[in-house]
Amino acid sequence: MNVKIADACGFCYGVRRAVDMALAAEKGTHTLGPIIHNPQVVSRLSDQGITPVDSLDEVPDGAAILIRSHGVGPLVYQEAEKKNLKIIDATCPHVKKAQQDAKKIVEDGKKLVIIGEKSHPEVISISQWGVNRAIILDREKEAEKIPFSDCLGVVVQTTFNQEQFKRIAAILKTRTRQLDVHMTICTATQQRQNAAVALARQSDAMIVIGGKNSANTGRLAEVCRQQGCPTYHVETAAELETSRFCGMKNIGITAGASTPDWIIQEVVKIMENLQAEGTEVMSEELLDKYDYEENPKKGDVVKGTVISVNDDAAYVSIGTKAEAILPKKEMAVPAPEKASDFVQVGQELTVEIANNIKEEGAIVVSLVKMKKVEDWKEVREAFEQGELIECTGKETNKAGLVVSIKSLRGFIPLSQGDVRFVKSLDYLVGQTFQVKVIDIDEHKNRLVLSRKAVLEAEREQKRAEALEHIEEGAVLEGTVVKIMPYGAFIDLGGVEGLLHISDISWKRISSVDAVLKTGEKLQVLVQKFDKERNRISLSLKALQKNPWIAAIEKFEVGDVVKGEVKKLLPFGAILAIDPELQGLLHVSELTDKRGAVVKDLVNIGDVMNVEIIGIDTDKKKISLSVLAIQKDEEEKEVRDYLESSQSEEGATIGDTVEEDK
Ligand code: SF4
Repeated sequence: MNVKIADACGFCYGVRRAVDMALAAEKGTHTLGPIIHNPQVVSRLSDQGITPVDSLDEVPDGAAILIRSHGVGPLVYQEAEKKNLKIIDATCPHVKKAQQDAKKIVEDGKKLVIIGEKSHPEVISISQWGVNRAIILDREKEAEKIPFSDCLGVVVQTTFNQEQFKRIAAILKTRTRQLDVHMTICTATQQRQNAAVALARQSDAMIVIGGKNSANTGRLAEVCRQQGCPTYHVETAAELETSRFCGMKNIGITAGASTPDWIIQEVVKIMENLQAEGTEVMSEELLDKYDYEENPKKGDVVKGTVISVNDDAAYVSIGTKAEAILPKKEMAVPAPEKASDFVQVGQELTVEIANNIKEEGAIVVSLVKMKKVEDWKEVREAFEQGELIECTGKETNKAGLVVSIKSLRGFIPLSQGDVRFVKSLDYLVGQTFQVKVIDIDEHKNRLVLSRKAVLEAEREQKRAEALEHIEEGAVLEGTVVKIMPYGAFIDLGGVEGLLHISDISWKRISSVDAVLKTGEKLQVLVQKFDKERNRISLSLKALQKNPWIAAIEKFEVGDVVKGEVKKLLPFGAILAIDPELQGLLHVSELTDKRGAVVKDLVNIGDVMNVEIIGIDTDKKKISLSVLAIQKDEEEKEVRDYLESSQSEEGATIGDTVEEDK
């Protein structure tokens, strides 16, 4: 049986992004509506404390609300702001574009037409950005009925059928002088349908995985059936009835845009196991087709003595008329280069009769078969006690990897080869590694192994060890393993933490991948560790000094510095006194003239001397003054004058003040 997965299936970009954002959200976050049309994902998120609500009324003030990929209208953002909610906006960027296009069409005074399903949440959100002034339609007949307009601006539901859109657009062309089409259809849905059709055409049956309430998964099943291919729509692997696929050669698998990878993998794993069972790799080659009832017979274990030996075989006396042959390939696995290197004349051996003996035919005996009995015993013990055992990769086929394990052959199904999804286990050929026995049947020569189980156990152990060393405030070395738009996941030696984009640098950064690269090593501070949920929040920024604080340390109140005018305000000007520092020169500190207008006194780009008259480190504010310099200069002139008068008249400043009194 061949099992093939459609070239495009499962989560689309927008859904994956939304689910990732939900998974990274704090416990107690709510999603406005179910995050996707998949009950298993919704329930998994609920278990993590991320629960759906129908409206913002159900969300407590100050909580976090996640907007799903379908998007929402502007009123929801306003309402959320009023309630002081933290918004996690997972609106798919394709939907966001459609919303903005609708808004622009209405602002430009054009008539807005949305081609899409009226009741679909995405279409409702686009319509709300078009201030609910849109004509919404999804059939040619509806297009024919709209009143003639000078200009029609059109946006399309991202998942709308391309062909249907073309037909409707052709009609709309006749209903206006100017048709302004914003092509907002996303190709993800079409790609999944095309791939499903192509696969259904070459398959004996199709399995379509996804929520029963998901329209796009239902449509995938429909297009597969239209190809005349028996199609089974299942939500999870538990619904698979494998007996339906008996005798079939080619099975195709596809999944809707809201089906998570782990559900697809479960189905694929089950089908791959069926596939592995149907292959020939585990069958044993019969040594002889004939079955004579003689004594001794095949399978008997007998004692014998080596009579002679050459490069290829030894001749063993076992009490029969003719000596039995022990070929070198039956001596050991792998076979010795020369038989004479392995046994000597006179050596006593216990061997197993390897063939069915014909009259006058040779008797072949084997040491390997004896070894196999011992090895089966050892492997069975490992299986029963859950112990690991070493094997070496030999060759791959579509279903997985054939390995040698002691003198035996075993098989690792593709799904059991690694912890990640791989298309082939070629990289394990020639490698020696540990495996766990997951199925054993000596009589059928069946030995199924898992390397994945070993890797998972190692990963779990590493993770537990790593968690022991993690505490809030610790500075640890980590490796960037995954970059997302909202941050990067850092491996801390078996456990991953999230370095949010806002915790990367004091400086504004355009995107995470502009400053971090996958594989990069870095020191991070553990700023939050939720042991119950194994959530670790990291910071790079906390290990760097705030550039404002570092820069202000060079200055103090009273310093006269050069400042460049960067911005004019109605009540003053903002001046840069350092690449990191800007201060306010209030108009009252620029001139003492009443009613002065700032732009009449200074221009952007002017450089002038200013005195620092205030530093507020908590609020990171600097106050500057020009008048203070003038005042200082005047005071200096008075002091100089008084000092020179004193030296001329022999009087002190104090004397002068006393006299004035
Ligand atoms: S189908 Fe396209 S538009 Fe819709 S969420 Fe997925 S990527 Fe975004």
